[in-house]
Amino acid sequence: MEIPFLSLKEITTSFGNELIENVIQTVNSGWYIHGDRCRQFEDAYSTFTGAKHCIGVGNGLDALILILRAYKELGLMKDYDEVIVPANTYIATLLAITANNLTPVLVEPDITHYCIDSNKIEQVITPKTKAIMPVHLYGQLCDMDRILEIARNFGLKVIEDAAQSHGAIYKGRRSGNLGDAAGHSFYPGKNLGALGDAGAVTTSDDELASMVRALANYGSQKKYVNLTKGFNSRLDEIQAGILTVKLARLDADNQLRRNVVEAYQQGIRNHKIVLPVVLHGEAAHVHHVYVVRVEDREDFQRYLTHKGIQTVIHYPIPPHKQEAYKELAHLSLPITEQIHRQVISLPLSPFLTKEQIAYVIDVVNAW
Ligand SMILES: *Cc1c(COP(=O)(O)O)cnc(C)c1O
Repeated sequence: MEIPFLSLKEITTSFGNELIENVIQTVNSGWYIHGDRCRQFEDAYSTFTGAKHCIGVGNGLDALILILRAYKELGLMKDYDEVIVPANTYIATLLAITANNLTPVLVEPDITHYCIDSNKIEQVITPKTKAIMPVHLYGQLCDMDRILEIARNFGLKVIEDAAQSHGAIYKGRRSGNLGDAAGHSFYPGKNLGALGDAGAVTTSDDELASMVRALANYGSQKKYVNLTKGFNSRLDEIQAGILTVKLARLDADNQLRRNVVEAYQQGIRNHKIVLPVVLHGEAAHVHHVYVVRVEDREDFQRYLTHKGIQTVIHYPIPPHKQEAYKELAHLSLPITEQIHRQVISLPLSPFLTKEQIAYVIDVVNAW
């Protein structure tokens, strides 16, 4: 049996003609940037998350860059201020910080759930610390009560990197509405994915929202009047239309992911494989990817490939060991390094069949 890691084609075709017809309507509308579809998606996604504002932007990295840039423009952050971030995040979170001339302060994750270890945040706070950026890695929401409490005590902003957690619910509130602002990515492989690049910022802060909106559109609120030196990061009408269609099915698709994961969690019985844990109740995890840990990853991956099971490593090299971040290379982050050495993601999609799931479980157990 051949089991792809994730078939985007299968997800797209599961919508029948709905996506294609939506694209055709946009093509025929004659309006392609900042029109009704963008507004419609922004309204739908702000209602969905519960945040007062949603600003559609070009991609997830831009969403995070824009939030920090807006805080600088509003005078709440300045060059070389510090932002606390989990050391095992995807590189984009760090890029957003350094692109703004801010300093990332790396904190180890918890080895059991891979989110930032909230017990290690307070000890790195300095007078320069301005924000915490929790990353809901792999779709698991972080320990938000504790993070928000620390932020309140020290006067810090909380900026969610919600690129992997669309739809996840923490104590009745959606990801994207758990801190002061959130950056979302709609990269095709994400739980809510466009058919190209797209992203959004959500926030209930009026000032921040209008600054992000202006910055993403040349620093302008009124055409040809520029308040600040902005850039161009816009959600186009075709992607906005697609996202509105796909948003309506997000909760159902996330539930299908949970069903697959439940089958894996029940079925995989191999003492060499460490399974993930789910924190804060099942709604708080949307299983963007299903990550397990093994000592001999190379052997495990080779074996699975040989059996037709495609896997991906999220991620093979931690940010502080990347050539791009030589200045962080001196840091000692043993938990992060262990995670990057051992993690491997098994196939996960809303549409894995019972037979496919059973095959993966049998093959994994036989290793
Ligand atoms: C995907 C991702 C991003 C960046 O999103 P893009 O749309 O690819 O720019 C940021 N942070 C995390 C954790 C991601 O997984």
